[in-house]
Amino acid sequence: MSVSPAQAARQELHGFKGQLTGPEDPGYQEVRAVYNAMIDRRPALVARCAGAEDVTHVLGFARHHGLPLAVRGGGHHGAGLGTCDDGVVVDLSPLKDVEVDPAARTVRVGGGCVWGEVDRATHAHGLATPSGIVSTTGVGGLTLGGGLGHLTRRCGLTVDNLLEADLVLADGTHVRASADENTDLYWAIRGGGGNFGVVTSFRFRLHEVSTVVAGPTFWPVESAAEVLAAYRDFIPHAPRDLNGFFLFGAVPPAPPFPEELQGRTACGVVWCYAGGDADEAARLMAPLLSAVPEPLLHGPAPMPHPAIQSAFDGLYPPGDQWYWRADFVNEIPGAAIEQHAGFGAALPSVKSTMHLYPIDGAVHDHAPTDTAWSYRDARWASVYAGVDPDPANADRIRKWTVDYFDALHPYSAGGAYVNMMMDEGQERVRASYRDNYARLARIKADRDPDNLFRLNQNIRPAAR
Ligand code: FAD
Repeated sequence: MSVSPAQAARQELHGFKGQLTGPEDPGYQEVRAVYNAMIDRRPALVARCAGAEDVTHVLGFARHHGLPLAVRGGGHHGAGLGTCDDGVVVDLSPLKDVEVDPAARTVRVGGGCVWGEVDRATHAHGLATPSGIVSTTGVGGLTLGGGLGHLTRRCGLTVDNLLEADLVLADGTHVRASADENTDLYWAIRGGGGNFGVVTSFRFRLHEVSTVVAGPTFWPVESAAEVLAAYRDFIPHAPRDLNGFFLFGAVPPAPPFPEELQGRTACGVVWCYAGGDADEAARLMAPLLSAVPEPLLHGPAPMPHPAIQSAFDGLYPPGDQWYWRADFVNEIPGAAIEQHAGFGAALPSVKSTMHLYPIDGAVHDHAPTDTAWSYRDARWASVYAGVDPDPANADRIRKWTVDYFDALHPYSAGGAYVNMMMDEGQERVRASYRDNYARLARIKADRDPDNLFRLNQNIRPAAR
């Protein structure tokens, strides 16, 4: 190319309605940034697409010039999969439509929305679809990778509530994937990530969820072994309306947390009872609370569903350094609990954390081969996340994360939740899809034979 990719795009992309930004343009620093500040990539072109036609134009441009292509929804992936060096970023952030159909109990969502935008719109009708625990996370990446959050036990994974998706495929064509159309794609995108096309619009099933009883219980980190063992025995048998994920973390250093506890390393459970009745929530939590020492703080209270959905937002704004590792877990034996207790007590920073998300309840209503998301028979998804605003601490948080993961991985089920893995290589991707990998690779060979969509947890096209 005799001119820069951004200049070439301006000359060649007639009819492109969005915004094209290259390194020489004002605003480049803002549009190239992703959530994890440890990722510092410099794309040649960021194309903010105004619609599916724009996406088709940009895919054609990247193919024609042989440029690497990244697709960005909310830009949250820890490994920076929503950006690239010297290539083209399809930025979907302008695709913000959210249309609730209260009678049909569905919501149509633009491919560039973040979850807070969806939660606010559906909550106005007393409805919700399950998503994650931070409202600034993109609908696109979270959904395509699976989707674990506060409503998982009651309503299943986010993909279990995905009714249809409109995609732009690698060759630029537009298709709909649903139970009736392009059923191969419908199966593959429910867990297979961004491997198969650019989703410009999703339609989800909605559930009656309005007021929830939610918030954390914190215990001294010295009680972690006892609390984790009791949690492990309790949550798989609790009613589906009660979700609770286990964590290590500091008590957040801000109100409403009592000043004397702020910043103190603790273990905890973050609850979300999907009914609105505080007494019933207390009754359901009681077996765990009575089996362990007195907590430092017991915070669950009735609140609008979007409030718990955004409760972590203040603690985790964009721009921190993040390093993640993850695993699926079937059993948590005593020896694993001992390791957890040690690493949990040695958090490398106030924001670093470990979460154990329960995978049971409605997730187990589907078989591992029903959708691409394979690990439905696991019990938990663990994630180790070193987080700190200061780049000077990057090595420290990375080391704690990797050491913690290395110590616990021998107790894991093998693979990991692709949305919480770093760039860990092909073997790890295969391990995360298990028996579903071969079918995914065949669909990839049909739909994206040249692997245009490869900046993701990549499924390689099967050999023909
Ligand atoms: P991006 O970085 O934009 O994209 C990630 C991948 O998805 C890329 O490969 C991209 O190409 C692809 N992609 C995104 N949008 C589209 C689209 N519309 N069409 C095609 N491909 C697309 N996960 C959970 O399940 N539950 C949680 O509670 C949760 N909490 C999180 C909290 C934080 C603070 C962070 C940083 C992440 C969290 N995650 C959680 C992980 C999250 O699901 C992944 O990071 C996910 O990839 C984010 O999606 P995104 O669109 O923001 O990311």
